Amino acid sequence: MKDQLEANQGKFQNPDVTADGAPRARVALTRPKTLWFNTGTLCNIQCVNCYIESSPTNDALVYITAGEVRDFLDQLTARSWPVTEIAFTGGEPFMNPQMIEIARASLERGYDVLILTNAMRPMMRKSMQKGLVALQTAFPGKLTLRISVDHYNPALHDAERGVGAFAKTLEGMQWLRDNGFRMAVAGRSIMADSEAQSRAGYAAFYKEHGFEIDAHDPSMTVLFPEMDTTVEVPEITADCWGILNKSPNDMMCASSRMVVKRRGAARLAVLACTLLPYAPEFELGATLEEAEKDVALNHPHCAKFCVLGGASCSA
Ligand code: SF4
Ligand code: SF4
Repeated sequence: MKDQLEANQGKFQNPDVTADGAPRARVALTRPKTLWFNTGTLCNIQCVNCYIESSPTNDALVYITAGEVRDFLDQLTARSWPVTEIAFTGGEPFMNPQMIEIARASLERGYDVLILTNAMRPMMRKSMQKGLVALQTAFPGKLTLRISVDHYNPALHDAERGVGAFAKTLEGMQWLRDNGFRMAVAGRSIMADSEAQSRAGYAAFYKEHGFEIDAHDPSMTVLFPEMDTTVEVPEITADCWGILNKSPNDMMCASSRMVVKRRGAARLAVLACTLLPYAPEFELGATLEEAEKDVALNHPHCAKFCVLGGASCSA
């Protein structure tokens, strides 16, 4: 974070204007599609590049409960958000002892459910396996597990996640395959492969193990860029949309919010997106109603990962 501040000195200070006085870009919540919950930051492992700094000891975000999730599902109905999907991320969601009950509460209301997981020991406990099979039976086709596979090469995956991690995740995926679960994969473009190389590598990995996952569908094999916080990035002005021919409606914060439970906080908080869990400015309120406000793109991640994606709008 210190490196990020040094690389972008003077920028990302004022939510309304950029360092050179131009109106800053903003994004309105125009089509809420996904409500995310962070189930808690505890994780069974500690990856080199975890964006939320999860580990076996980081409980900055504590376990959310089924009752708290139900309250937000009630708010979705009350606010008439046209959300179709409830998604869960961590930490490792299956560390949360109420994960099955939480998923069931969401499925019972008719939502599609997406759970991000490393498919390792927490998911493979007997109680979680039993609960997952029961959900799959009761709500066929409504549940997707998105597995983190940083690289299809076991050695490169283990370099991020620790020796033996790939084998454990593969075992989890084989169990999901054998029990008929719908799987997706979250990979990383950290290893200097081109996108085409990455997708070809994942396709071969899926074929080898009989996984029915489309390596060429970006929603089923999601490739995330590495978050290098030391690189200087430009600020995004209101004019950038036209210059880049991009729409604010395509940003994640136009279509989703994330609910978190901070350790020691009196109330849960609703954040603009999943990418900025610790930036106070992106905490929009304690309720969905409060979180309906616009988001000022006042963070380097907004520029680098969401708007520019490698392009430049310095014209
Ligand atoms: S498994 Fe996921 S949540 Fe856990 S440390 Fe690794 S990247 Fe972070
Ligand atoms: S990082 Fe910024 S632009 Fe991207 S989704 Fe989050 S708030 Fe929106």
